[in-house]
Amino acid sequence: MAYKRVLLKLSGEAFGGGRVGVDPDVVASIARQVAEVVSAGVQVAVVVGGGNFFRGAELQQRGMDRDRADYMGMLGTVMNCLALQDFCEKAGIATRVQTAITMGQVAEPYIPRRAERHLEKGRLVIFGAGSGMPYFSTDTVAAQRALEIGAEVLLMGKQGTDGVYDSDPRTNPDAVMFDELTYDEFLARDLKVADATAISMARDYALPMVFFNLDTEGNIARAVSGEKIGTTVHA
Ligand code: UDP
Repeated sequence: MAYKRVLLKLSGEAFGGGRVGVDPDVVASIARQVAEVVSAGVQVAVVVGGGNFFRGAELQQRGMDRDRADYMGMLGTVMNCLALQDFCEKAGIATRVQTAITMGQVAEPYIPRRAERHLEKGRLVIFGAGSGMPYFSTDTVAAQRALEIGAEVLLMGKQGTDGVYDSDPRTNPDAVMFDELTYDEFLARDLKVADATAISMARDYALPMVFFNLDTEGNIARAVSGEKIGTTVHA
């Protein structure tokens, strides 16, 4: 394995298998892949998205106040965390969920030093409820958590896409995927696969990012082993 400590961002879309809610078969498959990497001795922390439940921006377009809609989005991520926790424990690894919005019955509060201690003990740490603040995305939280816990790389697991393309491959059959990209190129092209706040935070603190496809079984281990998959974003 190329890395000792990684932050893995799992998009909420992947958890739903393309639909609203959680698809247990999909989550079980992701959990097995995560457990394989943790069992190999890599320290793994996960930030889980919530796009399979609610996105604040979409609810806002349909008439809701943005901040309340964003809180709904954050709560959605917690359901994904619990599903992932369940299947990871069934796959044989110890886990802890920490949430940025306190909910003592279901998870620990976000305590970075404690999260690091869990990682040192070989536990998977799953971060939920985003940053606890509206107007942010879980991509940005993933960059922030990666920096705070000292992860060497931010692995961006995506659904339905192999990496970063110059245009949307779902609508443009001629879209070309980048193997590598600098932070500045990413921002200059205004690519939508991650939000600009996350990219600029990674750039400012020299955190490498790898975008890869979660749908391909074994890709999490490939990304952690340093194999060239997807798109690497760096300085
Ligand atoms: N969200 C938020 N603050 C955060 C993280 C997330 O308000 O720090 C809300 C926001 O509404 C977002 C939703 O939670 O649309 C789900 O997160 P995201 O869209 O990042 O999930 P993903 O696209 O990765 O599935």
